[in-house]
Amino acid sequence: MLDDEPAFAEPGDSSLDAPASPAASPSPEPSHDVAPTLPEPPALCDLTGDANWSTLVPAFEELPAIRLAYLHCVLANVFEHSPILDAERRLTDELTIINLCLGMLPNTPRKPARSLVTARRRLGLNVNDYIELKAVCTKCFKVFSTDEIAALNSPECTESKCPGRVYNETRKRSGPAIPGEEDGAFKRVPAKVAAYAPLLKALPRYFLRKEFVEDLDTSTHTEPPRTLAEHEPMYDLQDAEAYRSTVLDHARTILQDGSVQDVKVFSGAQRTLRSVRYGQSFTINIDWFGVTEGRPHSVGAVYLTFNNLHRSVRYLQRNVHLLLVIPGPHEPSLEQLNHMLEPGVQELKIIYSGL
Ligand SMILES: [Zn+2]
Repeated sequence: MLDDEPAFAEPGDSSLDAPASPAASPSPEPSHDVAPTLPEPPALCDLTGDANWSTLVPAFEELPAIRLAYLHCVLANVFEHSPILDAERRLTDELTIINLCLGMLPNTPRKPARSLVTARRRLGLNVNDYIELKAVCTKCFKVFSTDEIAALNSPECTESKCPGRVYNETRKRSGPAIPGEEDGAFKRVPAKVAAYAPLLKALPRYFLRKEFVEDLDTSTHTEPPRTLAEHEPMYDLQDAEAYRSTVLDHARTILQDGSVQDVKVFSGAQRTLRSVRYGQSFTINIDWFGVTEGRPHSVGAVYLTFNNLHRSVRYLQRNVHLLLVIPGPHEPSLEQLNHMLEPGVQELKIIYSGL
């Protein structure tokens, strides 16, 4: 759970144009129901994987006008649904105007970008840094890491009775042939891939957005949980008992007799999720949709929503995390779905233990 306050967070700043939300209340006092025996939360760490995050992106070495042209090009493609060629034509037009105004286009430190992909890279908007292509078995959808694929003796899936393949070998040699090591001369290419957006990389991006943090429900720091009257209708899922009373400090444990039980990890008073200022409760949503007209090709989307967000903004596109795209052509079986969700489950376990 994200327990530390982001450096920019100013919960008492009511001048911001955000929906009415509990986060706009005065700066809350620390929670009193935190067990004194709980360990210190771990130090915050950079989860984005970008070690040079403080370095300005390459576009800042170029003229502001050119940087703005890059931005217009990318925004047109991403938000205005401009095809790539139209976005690049726009970039060319703006560079032509800059050329007319300045009399020339600078060639240092580098020539202005003319393509969308280059403009995006110079702006540091590499969305591929946040999307992983997971290799999965063609039949059971079990996820295999690169190391696991390299260690396999054959392309067959390792799941019991699964007839699927994990990788194909390309004919093209990936490197110089080594006599006597024929296996290493061919490249192993995943037979099927699924797009996965790691939650641990995405979470910091959400919490770096000021309005996202301000729209989170943090009311329990100052207000006792409100109990609904017997016949009072619920206004939102945040009124639900399960949301209000979710208790932390439990872990799913396999007991000696093989039974599975959620047991308390720490002694002391119970702590609810909502007592942790940035404690998050998620909903995992799954839906399928056809991607081709007239042909039955169904693709699945697993997306994650933040229950703590105010309901007016909870399902806005920018606040919904597309965790996983399940490849078609058919809706997956329960086994396939369980395999595909495994990376997400592992990340949620890490998040549950605290970030
Ligand atoms: Zn398999």
